[in-house]
Amino acid sequence: MPTPSPNPHLPFGDQRTAPWYGRDIISVKQFGREDLEYIFAVAHEMHDMVDHIGTFDLLKGKILANLFYEPSTRTSSSFTAAMERLGGSVIPINEVKYSSVSKGESLPDTVRTLECYTDVIVIRHPEVGSAAIAAKAARKPVINAGDGIGEHPTQALLDAFTIKEELGHIDGLTVTLLGDLKHGRTVHSLARLLSLYKVRLNYVAPDILRMPAELIDELKAKKVEQAEYTTLDQALPETDVLYVTRVQKERFTDEAVFESVKGAYVIDPKVMKAAKERMIVMHPLPRVGEISPEFDDDPRAAYFRQMEYGLYVRMALLAMVLGKA
Ligand code: ASP
Repeated sequence: MPTPSPNPHLPFGDQRTAPWYGRDIISVKQFGREDLEYIFAVAHEMHDMVDHIGTFDLLKGKILANLFYEPSTRTSSSFTAAMERLGGSVIPINEVKYSSVSKGESLPDTVRTLECYTDVIVIRHPEVGSAAIAAKAARKPVINAGDGIGEHPTQALLDAFTIKEELGHIDGLTVTLLGDLKHGRTVHSLARLLSLYKVRLNYVAPDILRMPAELIDELKAKKVEQAEYTTLDQALPETDVLYVTRVQKERFTDEAVFESVKGAYVIDPKVMKAAKERMIVMHPLPRVGEISPEFDDDPRAAYFRQMEYGLYVRMALLAMVLGKA
């Protein structure tokens, strides 16, 4: 089909010529630095709009299918809030056991069904590669909200946005990823995304939960400075962003192994005495003991603010794939 020419009479530009119109968001590998600058700028505008007018009609009449095969609090509710803040509506399928999935319907058929009724599909699924399978089956844009231990691209985008908003820049920072780096999809996506910047990455994990070697090699080929540790004490003093993760219980087949590593690191006011005064602590949440609530009132605790940044980034992404940004 020839590319239609822009229509100057449309208030938000011709949908079909918007750069992200109709595209899927499956992996952070799809993004370059310019894309990030663009997303951050749109997210920033979304923040202003929410502050000033709350809800507006950019996506009026558009419908999102929120298809979650795994539990979620933040991702699912922030996509819902994002769509509704933009004037659109949502079909939530949070408990696939009440849908035809429980009758054995395949992922491609489920997606083909939902796209008949909606304009965009957000999907979380326990298997790596599931979002890509869904995207292949669908003509409408599909957004990956976590595919097993694979990726969580919208989380990484909101994490990078959080760093930018909180510290003003990303280049030159030392980012320490702590916890379950083997199973944590958020750290897989974030490390890849940060490789677009000049950062130093520290990985702190118990031996059995180390960052996958393929990912380290992938970033090494891009000349990213990386170092691995099993304890935090060496890395903490130089850290600008401490990104804490929970040990992903649901990915373990042997409960005893999980028990042996679950309390490996706990961030509390005492531990944080060794950290810089100007730095931030992030967590994709939920936390299950890795950050003591006693640290919550410290200005460096950015994990609750991080959730709010997620709303603006998801508003930006929905507007982009629906051709309104
Ligand atoms: N909420 C994040 C995720 O879905 C982090 C986590 O569950 O630990 O990956």
